[in-house]
Amino acid sequence: MKPVTIAVAKGRIFSEMAPLLAAAGLAPVADAASSRQLILPTQQADVQLVVVRAADVPTYVQYGGADLGVTGKDVLGEHGWEGLYELADLGVALCRLAVAAPDGFAYEEAIRLGRRLRVATKYVVAARDHFAAKGVHVDLIRLYGSMELAPLVGLADAIVDLVSTGRTLQANGLVEVETIAPVSSRLIVNQAALKMNERALFPVVESIVRAANERLERS
Ligand code: ADP
Ligand code: MG
Repeated sequence: MKPVTIAVAKGRIFSEMAPLLAAAGLAPVADAASSRQLILPTQQADVQLVVVRAADVPTYVQYGGADLGVTGKDVLGEHGWEGLYELADLGVALCRLAVAAPDGFAYEEAIRLGRRLRVATKYVVAARDHFAAKGVHVDLIRLYGSMELAPLVGLADAIVDLVSTGRTLQANGLVEVETIAPVSSRLIVNQAALKMNERALFPVVESIVRAANERLERS
């Protein structure tokens, strides 16, 4: 039978998911960090992991390259939920989406005076929605990384980016001026796979959700 495939975002999300996957009985059998394998067999012979860029997880799941996926809500907000269901908030990789600007920049006043701000971000969907809901006109500049740089070189007045401790902002002379939304990692499923293959997917989903809930209860 075809194995159940779970696409997990590499990096921070995978590191935080590793103990949770182990608690769910789904630990990779080879060391994920040293192995160059792209498909990781797990303790359960009929379940395998693929570890891919966070932004690629929804694509894998939407088109059936993976049955299940784990990635940030920020990523899902940009990709959209077409062909996907969100099954659970796993409570890992906690951070928030926020507007940040150089320390000393009068952000509220600029908004009040109707100044047209330039905002750099990779979160163009979330940023567009946020400023539209406030009735604020901004020019969005799409970047793919290192948003903190944009205000430092005069590319933008402000940025929309993920913040957890605020250390990266601080190191670049930026301050959080507005919080947009909390972010955490979500378990998603391919809609068709859920319908066609519920019997195989259900125990996998259940064990992951149970491990996530137990982790939240302990914290
Ligand atoms: P990539 O390097 O593939 O662009 P990132 O490493 O920036 O991706 O982040 C991948 C995902 O990890 C994000 O989409 C988000 O959900 C989560 N994440 C990013 N930064 C943080 C953070 N500071 N704290 C917690 N989670 C984060
Ligand atoms: Mg990164």
